Amino acid sequence: MLKPSIITELKAIVGKDYVMTDREDLIIYSNDATVFSHLPDAVVKPGNREEVAAIVKLAARHNIPLTGRGAATCLSGGAVPLKGGIVVELVRMNRIRKIDVVNKYAVVEAGVITFELTTQAAKAGLLYPPDPSSLKESTLGGERCRMCRRPQRR
Ligand SMILES: Cc1cc2nc3c(=O)[nH]c(=O)nc-3n(C[C@H](O)[C@H](O)[C@H](O)COP(=O)(O)OP(=O)(O)OC[C@H]3O[C@@H](n4cnc5c(N)ncnc54)[C@H](O)[C@@H]3O)c2cc1C
Repeated sequence: MLKPSIITELKAIVGKDYVMTDREDLIIYSNDATVFSHLPDAVVKPGNREEVAAIVKLAARHNIPLTGRGAATCLSGGAVPLKGGIVVELVRMNRIRKIDVVNKYAVVEAGVITFELTTQAAKAGLLYPPDPSSLKESTLGGERCRMCRRPQRR
């Protein structure tokens, strides 16, 4: 359970419409595509990176666990807030900022749906190859995390 003062601070960061603390809302954010489940203490939905940074600083100051969340299609329980704390849902951050055809890279926000990038890249004559079967709902943020968990080359 978070102190009321922390909830107030979260609302000041993202706006009161983007902080959820009612039990029926928290239940929705307690699981992903696995059987694992744990209630968070709050869910916040930042709209830009400055808000994300402010949430992270607040959580670090008060030692509150954070769990990032895209579309929650994860098949390994990664989006389940096993230690409670704050779920940070990134789906409002869904802009493709740039597709650089010459240098073959894109600048996107974490909540972009993978299929949207695939589509926009194709329109620009490029191929974005990662192709999970959840393509039409999963986000780039979730996908990036999955790739980062691969064993590192030495
Ligand atoms: C029907 C179905 C088919 C699937 N097919 C495949 C497949 O073919 N191949 C495959 O590899 N996977 C597959 N998956 C698993 C899953 O869809 C992918 O791993 C997908 O990339 C997860 O994206 P997401 O937005 O749902 O992430 P989430 O489930 O929301 O999060 C996944 C992980 O990333 C973290 N995370 C999310 N956003 C961020 C962020 N912005 N910054 C840091 N961390 C973040 C979460 O904390 C969590 O640990 C499938 C799942 C389903 C339900």
